[in-house]
Amino acid sequence: MSNDIHWVKTHCARMDHGGCALKVGVQDNRIVSLKGDPDGYLNKGYICPKATASPDRLNHPLRLRHPLKRKGARGEGKWQKISWQQALDCVCENLQSVKDRLGARSVAFCQGMPKGLEHFVLIRLANTFGSPNVVVVQDVCHAPREVSGLHTCGFYPVADFHHKSRLVLLWGSNPSSTNEEGQISSLLLNQIKQGTELIVVDPRRTGLAAKADRWLQIRPGSDCALALSFLNVIITEELFDKNFTNNWTHGFDELADHVSSYTPDEVSRLTWIPANQIKEAARAYARARPAAIAWGNAIEHNIQSFDTARALICLMAVCGNLDIAGGNIQANEPEILSLGKFVRADLLPSKPKEMIHAHHHTIPKMMTVPPAFFRKAVLEGFPYPIGAAYVQCANPLLAYADSRQTYETLMKLDFMAVSDIVMTPTAALADLVLPAATHFEFNDIGHYGLGHGYILARPKVVDPPAECWPDIKILNELGKMLTPAQYWYDNHEQLLDALLAPAGLDFGQFTERGLLKGGYQTKKYEMNGFKTPSGKVELSLSRATELKVPALPEFNGYPEPQDPAYPLLLTSAKSRYYLHSSYRWLEQLRTARPHPRALIHPQTASDYNIDENDDIIIETAYGQISQIAHLTDSVHPDVIVAACGWWFPEEKMEALFGWDRSNFNILTSTEKLGRQFGTPNLKGLNCRIRRK
Ligand code: SF4
Repeated sequence: MSNDIHWVKTHCARMDHGGCALKVGVQDNRIVSLKGDPDGYLNKGYICPKATASPDRLNHPLRLRHPLKRKGARGEGKWQKISWQQALDCVCENLQSVKDRLGARSVAFCQGMPKGLEHFVLIRLANTFGSPNVVVVQDVCHAPREVSGLHTCGFYPVADFHHKSRLVLLWGSNPSSTNEEGQISSLLLNQIKQGTELIVVDPRRTGLAAKADRWLQIRPGSDCALALSFLNVIITEELFDKNFTNNWTHGFDELADHVSSYTPDEVSRLTWIPANQIKEAARAYARARPAAIAWGNAIEHNIQSFDTARALICLMAVCGNLDIAGGNIQANEPEILSLGKFVRADLLPSKPKEMIHAHHHTIPKMMTVPPAFFRKAVLEGFPYPIGAAYVQCANPLLAYADSRQTYETLMKLDFMAVSDIVMTPTAALADLVLPAATHFEFNDIGHYGLGHGYILARPKVVDPPAECWPDIKILNELGKMLTPAQYWYDNHEQLLDALLAPAGLDFGQFTERGLLKGGYQTKKYEMNGFKTPSGKVELSLSRATELKVPALPEFNGYPEPQDPAYPLLLTSAKSRYYLHSSYRWLEQLRTARPHPRALIHPQTASDYNIDENDDIIIETAYGQISQIAHLTDSVHPDVIVAACGWWFPEEKMEALFGWDRSNFNILTSTEKLGRQFGTPNLKGLNCRIRRK
């Protein structure tokens, strides 16, 4: 035993996308202290409660410590410990059997939110195996913004929090609770301290909304109308950047004509925001340059996500805020192995045509399968059957819209393997459960696709329990057994070196640096134009007919028509204590937020005879759940803000840990989907409430 503490510098992960630099104190292979690293590029010393609690995962009694094979009926909670070799053999036999029977494409590879390189190694496994079907909830998280960006301006415009903005327009984003891919709130708070004006568009008065110069309390599901009304004001009052619109936009006159009907008076009726507030906020955004729009994935939670994202990109463009410092930029990737080469995209050139969603005519460039279409394939065999799924870092039973449909889907699969840190409701339905290592327990890189042009070193801090393996190791071993061995490595850590080789670094050297950034350069379009068919920002899409999408962004009404049987509106918000459905099992976090909390305006609560901490029923046309009432005037009297991701790890495994009692996705449906991305409505749902 040694009493010496040594400190390791790493980056947070798996508690969200990660990014905060950490200093971790280690003694005798145990983490004894954890602090934010003041030198951290993104966080400058800040860390959130999730990171503080993250070491508690390592020795938690609920931690999975051995590969487990199902003994009884699916979901019965009976397991047999097996060796890793038996586990790998079992995965290979079952995936190969489906491949032999139905073809490689009938095996799906499912990923939750990427935590490190495991997502990209999973895509490599799918490609080398021959399946185009990697299923990810990108339809409600980042794909609508990214893919709409690719079609509109040729890149994914992210807020540049590293250069001073005169104004930040935070739209459906709450970075003080959830890290939106590198937009850590400490960077934003620093800017606010230095005088940056803040406008927040949110149905709820979040902490940042309370600090903001203007808060627009929007009706859930009407964001697209509001963005179009901003454009109306800015174009009508000639506040746009004439130089940029003349030289670098395509379809400005059509857009101007199109938005003329979205007057603040008309849109005020749709959004519940007073017309003068719409006008003043639009003027403030247009007059402050540089100004950044930090857009959260709340705008992607309904079937209009394509139009909403398009309208916001048009707003960035007409005000001259695209690709300028302090505006919305195209980040340059560092000099690393390209993503296509890393995932061996060359081995599956037919992927864009063969992916399940291509048969549903989604928009090109969407490279992961929307969960609604994955389930349709399993349940209905359209466009072809899916017989098996390999699931990692994911809890679809909670995370996908319409949880009952997900339950039916998982029950119908011939085979499902799940890799995770603890037994989740999804893992409890698996045939095989694999114990994964946490990010403190292996070398990793965080990660391709962050959108902000950097990768982060995540060196191992302590050893994992003997039988917990890093996901990238599991995948590397499966790759060698299931696919031609030449695509894989003797040791999974060689994957890290391969990624870093073009930068002339190995993982050890990278760790010493801590992070690798692409060069910072703005106004790249001045050299070669925008990467669109017209070479300009396509306010009006020149390929609209071919893509079967509207050329101009339009608001097509609320996600659901009003229904007197369900007089209130339902939305949800993420908690700062949890990541989606993760970590209800960590005592520190659970003590801070013990129950699923539904936010209700005091007037509404009084109308329904509901008191603080009452157990209430929330009901939509699709199902009902119970949550605990929290009365607050931070929400509109007609809006209920429910908690999402709730299950109860302390309950019985054979009851799937109470998966359907408070789970927000019991209230959602996949009946109506957005055509471009297969996105379901998760926000702006009609609902009613009552005391239980
Ligand atoms: S904000 Fe995210 S990356 Fe930063 S400490 Fe919290 S969980 Fe970790």
